Amino acid sequence: MIMKTAPLPIAYFKGKFVPIEEANVSIMTNALQYGTAFFGGIRGYFNKESGCISIFRLDDHIRRFSQSPRVIGIKLKYTSEEMKKIVLELAKKNKPQTDIYLRPFAYASSTNLSPNLEEDNIFDFALYMIELGDYLPTNRGISVCVSSWRRVSDNAIPSRAKISGSYINSGMAKLEALRHGYEEAIFLNEDGHVAEGSAMNLFIVRNGKLITPAVSENILEGITRRSIIEIALDEGIEVVERVVDRTELYVADEAFFCGTGAKVSWISQIDGREVGDEKLGPITSKLRDIFFKAVKGDDLKYESWCTKISV
Ligand code: PMP
Repeated sequence: MIMKTAPLPIAYFKGKFVPIEEANVSIMTNALQYGTAFFGGIRGYFNKESGCISIFRLDDHIRRFSQSPRVIGIKLKYTSEEMKKIVLELAKKNKPQTDIYLRPFAYASSTNLSPNLEEDNIFDFALYMIELGDYLPTNRGISVCVSSWRRVSDNAIPSRAKISGSYINSGMAKLEALRHGYEEAIFLNEDGHVAEGSAMNLFIVRNGKLITPAVSENILEGITRRSIIEIALDEGIEVVERVVDRTELYVADEAFFCGTGAKVSWISQIDGREVGDEKLGPITSKLRDIFFKAVKGDDLKYESWCTKISV
């Protein structure tokens, strides 16, 4: 796996910009013990010529991040506007010269000995940045399996929010996939329907239609997923959000993952069965090309998705 994760020198922690080495918590921290935290993941694309970073769908990421405390039933000290300002300030301070990934993080920072969110009702906010290349290969098809683990359900740990503790579910699916010689996993939900990847949404193509599990299928409501749907509709491609059966994966003409980390990563094999003719399909290829241009702010049609700042 090609993953570059060098941290950038400055982070935001306990209300201040500090060197990343100083952004540390106690071993007793509630969030560390119980996963009582939630996070976001935002990409910024560096343009050497202009010296600008194009941050992709910042407002949408902050909006989703701000919805997590509402789902959990706790409070966050910061407003969306304040967090947006901190993101932009940190990006400027770190002067990145590569593509970056920003990680907003809110966590139960007390050292209370119980996952009692009533006692620890206000979460702290922190933010750091890393350099990040491809998280999954994007230049070749990947081989994936259907996981034997089920995706956490809305009534257990809501998948609509990016809750830290729930990522043990993703970790176990990914571990199983890698141990069995695959590169990524597809989760089914408790109803046995297709949900998503370990940390990315999933699309298939059947008879020229783009199909993806609906938001009620225990998926994270991905911002990349929404962007792909918007691009597809603009291109006149029919998009269907619905229940997807496992065996539809085996008869799909094309399949791909998408996400902030994953970008658009196409799938050539599922459970040892070839997807289409194991080549990058025409619909995936078209959406991928437009998406890759859009995230960099190079497609005028989608310019409003990008916040460009000179660094
Ligand atoms: N599903 C899960 C479980 C994820 O962690 C992610 C990554 N945030 C996604 C889907 C993709 O969402 P987005 O496009 O908003 O990054």
